[in-house]
Amino acid sequence: DISLSPRVSSLKPSKTIAITDQATALVQAGVPVIRLAAGEPDFDTPAVIAEAGMKAIRDGYTKYTPNAGTLELRSAICHKLKEENGISYTPDQILVSNGAKQSLLQAVLAVCSPGDEADYAGTIGHHSPVQLISTYGITYILQVIIPAPFWVSYTEMARLADATPVILPTHISEDFLLDPKILESKLSEKSRLLVIGTPSNPAGTVYPRKLLEQIAQIVAAHLRLLVLSDEIYEHIIYAPAIHTSFASLPGMWERTLTVNGFSKAFAMTGWRLGYLAGPKHFVSACGKIQSQATSGACSISQKAAVAALGLGYAGGEAVAAMVKAFKERRDYLVQTFGELEGVKISEPQGAFYLFLDFSSYYGTEAEGFGLIKDSSSLCRYLLDKAQVAVVPGDAFGDDTCIRISYAASLSTIQAATDSIKKAMTALK
Ligand code: PLP
Repeated sequence: DISLSPRVSSLKPSKTIAITDQATALVQAGVPVIRLAAGEPDFDTPAVIAEAGMKAIRDGYTKYTPNAGTLELRSAICHKLKEENGISYTPDQILVSNGAKQSLLQAVLAVCSPGDEADYAGTIGHHSPVQLISTYGITYILQVIIPAPFWVSYTEMARLADATPVILPTHISEDFLLDPKILESKLSEKSRLLVIGTPSNPAGTVYPRKLLEQIAQIVAAHLRLLVLSDEIYEHIIYAPAIHTSFASLPGMWERTLTVNGFSKAFAMTGWRLGYLAGPKHFVSACGKIQSQATSGACSISQKAAVAALGLGYAGGEAVAAMVKAFKERRDYLVQTFGELEGVKISEPQGAFYLFLDFSSYYGTEAEGFGLIKDSSSLCRYLLDKAQVAVVPGDAFGDDTCIRISYAASLSTIQAATDSIKKAMTALK
């Protein structure tokens, strides 16, 4: 009997990765599966960025970099955050990591841990999180508040930090936007971190500034609460939606850990580069974790990232061309699925996913397959019958829906949509 840490036993493996792997295995076995499960742009990294990476190799820029990232890149990130997001940071308030995933995990690990309420009740009254940690050495408030549908890793990161994920439901009829009243009702002394992803994965929800201001008011009244703002899809947004950085709201700079990265907007998933920006106290704590776990991110990728930020406001024309293609696909999907009976749709305002409510089909049967009872059986059915790989909503905390990634060419999406519609109409 080889025993494992309880930390691992309670952890769920990423379903999006599992389904993508399953679909890839089917393709390798000769089954013509259309893969719409992955969260990865189908475009190549823009040539100028790739060339900067190649130049770094040719120049022998292949050694360790500082743990926090090169000063050149951190300065470029500060410039970007100021110009595009209206938030002021200095390079020592930036930590560059191997992907936004690492940035998020380190942030959760740095501020959450198990704890006993009795340990802090009464002692910490009205101090800010910074004072709490620096004065009392207390780093363990217990809950990570996560609106659903959520990106699969938020809940598991909370579990890795021995904290409790607390899920706040939202509804498709309200475009999956968080109701501030529900937030307020769930917050307590134990609430440590509120995770906001905008634009969101899996629903493409973009939080309007007004709603973020309402949330900020609630956060301001809960002094121990920090906000982890995941802005990785910020550039993949469809007018008239506008991205607002939580840290730019009045009073929220001190309370926000902003995460962003290069994977999505710049089609740089394999380069593994993301970053955290926030008050130095927290960023240094995350840096400490990183220094013992992975050290500075890839030197070559950092040179490429400097070139990416050099493309201009919001990634310039190279990014605009990708966003235009994503928008065409979104429009096609929304229109086509809108014609299918019994489907509920909230038009995504950003990212490259459609989160469709197919729950009116639950309880139906497919010949030779059996009962469709939930999002998982529906996705298995679609893989089997339509040969399209999509992700069940239960992976994102909402079993009524499935997630279709439209990071694929329009013709691939058209073929997949035809197949899915045919498979759905065969259900009785
Ligand atoms: N945040 C969200 C919402 C994501 O969808 C992803 C990637 O799928 C990430 C963060 C992590 O991105 P990366 O680690 O590639 O920078």
